[in-house]
Amino acid sequence: MRRQNLLAAAGIAVLAGGFQAAANAGATTSGGAKAGAIPATIDSSASPSRVFSASRGGVTFRYRVRGAGPVSVQIRLYRRSGNSLIRTWKRHPKDGGWHTIHWDGSAHGKAQPDGHYVFRLEGRMADGSRVGRASQGNAGRNSFTLHKFIFPVRGSHSYGDGFGAPRAGHIHEGQDVLASCGTPLLAARGGTVKHNAYQSAAGNYIVITMQDTGLDAVYAHLKHPSHHPEGSRVYTGQRIGVVGQTGDATACHLHFELWSSPGWYSGGHPFDPAPDHHAWDRYS
Ligand SMILES: [Zn+2]
Repeated sequence: MRRQNLLAAAGIAVLAGGFQAAANAGATTSGGAKAGAIPATIDSSASPSRVFSASRGGVTFRYRVRGAGPVSVQIRLYRRSGNSLIRTWKRHPKDGGWHTIHWDGSAHGKAQPDGHYVFRLEGRMADGSRVGRASQGNAGRNSFTLHKFIFPVRGSHSYGDGFGAPRAGHIHEGQDVLASCGTPLLAARGGTVKHNAYQSAAGNYIVITMQDTGLDAVYAHLKHPSHHPEGSRVYTGQRIGVVGQTGDATACHLHFELWSSPGWYSGGHPFDPAPDHHAWDRYS
């Protein structure tokens, strides 16, 4: 319809004659008739290639559609294992510039499992025809690896007492990680600060309810009180303090606990974090 109108307008201009008519005809050719002849293309990429969920920024998917008129775009995120569809976004980009989508690693309030993920984008013109891909055959640009957790001790370390080790009147409810005092400590997973306090046994400690997992993580014997106040939001990989020896600690180390939902001294139970620790340590 639009093309016909433009051609009609050009026809009238030509009939009117003169320089202005030639200019109008040129505009009609590039803006109307030729647009359909130039194949529209899509460029896209995902970054970073390794993503920690509940981190600041998460993963960013960038795309642009060039040489097309009105286009509708569907972006689907798949987990490669099982080719399962995780999320769908629908967009109507109005220009040929870059557009972005952010994903934090959760869907329907649940942290998605570790693994390889890929964004797949499909664009359609107003008439329903498919838009071609500029980056076809380069699907690696749209894929990334997702991890739910990062190992919290960022320096050389070794493993000390484990879960269940005998203690006077109770058992050890976590895993000790020995590292020099001052070694940076990161949030293994982002979430909300449940407690930030000092007690004679734990020294400076912080409890973080880890987003979309139902789990609480406890970090104890920090050198200084963590600067994240109770109720505040922290992100995966964000610094929460440094290794210390406060409280009843006899060496510089992190005492780390994991609690099942609904969490630390609020109905949950501590469980052995060692298998998780070793897994996180391998890829972090
Ligand atoms: Zn301990």
